[in-house]
Order: sequence, then C-alpha cells, then structure tokens
Amino acid sequence: MNVAQALAEARARGLDRLEGQLLLGALLNVERGWLISHDDAKLTAEQAARFADWLAQRLQDVPLAYLVGSKEFHGLTLRVDAHTLVPRPDTEVLVDWALELLPGLGAAPRAVDLGTGSGAIALAIKHRFAAATVSAVDLSPGALAMAQANARRLALDVEFLAGDWWQPLAGRRFELIVSNPPYIAGDDPHLPALRHEPRSALTPEGDGLAALRILVEGAPAHLASGGWLLLEHGYDQAGAVTALLSARGFTEVANRRDLGEQPRVSGGRWPGGPAA
Ligand code: GLN
Repeated sequence: MNVAQALAEARARGLDRLEGQLLLGALLNVERGWLISHDDAKLTAEQAARFADWLAQRLQDVPLAYLVGSKEFHGLTLRVDAHTLVPRPDTEVLVDWALELLPGLGAAPRAVDLGTGSGAIALAIKHRFAAATVSAVDLSPGALAMAQANARRLALDVEFLAGDWWQPLAGRRFELIVSNPPYIAGDDPHLPALRHEPRSALTPEGDGLAALRILVEGAPAHLASGGWLLLEHGYDQAGAVTALLSARGFTEVANRRDLGEQPRVSGGRWPGGPAA
C-alpha cells in the first residue's frame, strides 16, 4: 500500500480528506505537504496495519488526538489520553480573555484553573504570562498525572492539586479563577459521539449547570478584591451563567464568543473585600 492508496481507503471508508491526511501524517511523522508530494511512497506492512487500526478506531469516533497522542492548544503541544478531555479551540477564547486581564491584576497575579484536565488552560496561561503564579485542580488522578507530565515536558511551573472543585483550595485567594467545567446536559444528543472522552469531564448530568453553579457560588470566597472569574459554558448557557454571576454579586459581567460566534465564555469581577 502506498500513501495515495491509504488516503483513498480512508476516504472510501467515510473519513474526510483532511482527517485522513492528519492521521497518516501523524503515523508516518510527516507533514501533510509531504504526503501530497510523496503519494507513491510505500507504507511498511507495520505502518499499513497501524493505519488500518487507527482508521477503524477513528470511524468509531475515537478522537484523532487520542490516536496521535497529542493536541495543539494555544501554541502548545499537549499530550492527551482517554483520561483527559481533548482541548478544544473554543477554549482558547477563555485563555485569551485571561491574558488580557492578567496585566491589570498586579505584579504577580495568582491564577487557578479548576478541572484542568490535560492542563491546557493553566499551562497556556503560564506559558504566555510567566509572572503569574498558576495552580490547577482536578479530581481525576489520571488527568492530573497527564497535566503534570505536560507541565514537566514543557518546563512550565504550575502547582497541581487533587480534589473536588474548591476543596483543595481552602483559605486561598486568587486574582483570577478560570474553568472549563463539564457543562453538557446529561441527555444531550451530542454526548454519544463524545463517548471516548471522560464523561465526567463533559457532563455533570442533569441540565448541565451543576458544576457552573458550584463554581459561581464558591468563587467569592477564593477571589481577591477586584479578581475575575471566567467560565466556559455551552452555547445556550450564557444567559443562565450571566444570571448566576449577577445574582452572586459579580460586576462587569460579560460574555465572549467562540470561533462559531456562540457566546462560550462568561465572566465577572469580584468587587469588594473578602466575601462569604
Ligand atoms: N466544548 C466541549 C464540546 O462541546 C465540551 C467541553 C465541556 O463540557 N467542558 O464538545
């Protein structure tokens, strides 16, 4: 089998052209351009077998990132596996907002990422704003191990804490709190296609708002005066999250849109002194 035949096979089986190229490129460790200019290059029997295996898995909705073992996020290459949600480009919107706020939050702002997964948000913030002291929390030992390995490999100094949302942060305050929590409703029709990713990272079950409620409720006890809370949420949850933030006493409540123009991140500023 040569490169052209492998790519044709992927298309015939129903994979789109770009995905076929990404899969084969990762397997052969070459750029997409190489595949196009070397379409008569032969695959070894071992490469052909692995390609067939990856193709079958991809057609069963296994994320490309799990097959190739990594995902690009905000300029970083992150290792990912089935313990971690695959970082999404939409989440870069949250990181960009955080990076706009950080310079106004003091000389050495403290930031924390709740439900860090692969470490994507925390590591991207530390990478682009080294003066911040960055912490990251996750309940899943498998996710934390992956996040820590990513931090080591990228030589980014982030503190990792195991626990359930606020639990490992007792008594601590931050200038910036960010999270991309599970927010898909338990009966959302998109969930089956995401079945290879950790369900607990995708949905808190119910209406999808349970984790967002915990985050809004608990944030004031962990925010410094003037600190910000930024939360990613579902395309149809901006109204609910905005209402939760306002009801809890946040000011400057605002939303940011994702690449598909959906309101995807909401945030607010904690106004006063130490709060209950
Ligand atoms: N944005 C992801 C998706 O819709 C979900 C991420 C999450 O639940 N935090 O696939």
